[in-house]
Amino acid sequence: MDYSKFGNMMEKNRLKSFKKWPFDESSACSAKKMAEAGFYWSGNDREPDTVTCYICNKTLDGWEQSDDPWKEHAKHAPQCSFVKCGRKEAELTVKEFINICNVALKARLEQNLNRTLEEFRKYAEKEKEKLLLGK
Ligand SMILES: [Zn+2]
Repeated sequence: MDYSKFGNMMEKNRLKSFKKWPFDESSACSAKKMAEAGFYWSGNDREPDTVTCYICNKTLDGWEQSDDPWKEHAKHAPQCSFVKCGRKEAELTVKEFINICNVALKARLEQNLNRTLEEFRKYAEKEKEKLLLGK
């Protein structure tokens, strides 16, 4: 079983992703607080302040030291089930935690499925065309 794909579901793993985060511990948007609010680091050298939510996949950048990650998360992704729940991992029951992760996994699988179906549709259309042209 490959557990790495579940990595970002755990707060401690999200926290580890913040290697080049430009804000320190005293900031409202410290790495710890970002990870608590569901974000993992998805930046690069040019844009080190880019993060993504592990549940809703919302990507946010342009952070300022005084920004509250929960408030920003709720403002830009009010539909997110993690933000709707509004509590960090340690404050969730196991059942709540699993339910939230299930929502995320389902959404991810659906995205993959839709992508595969779309790829197959294009492939089938091309093949059908070839047949019609007698190639
Ligand atoms: Zn979210």
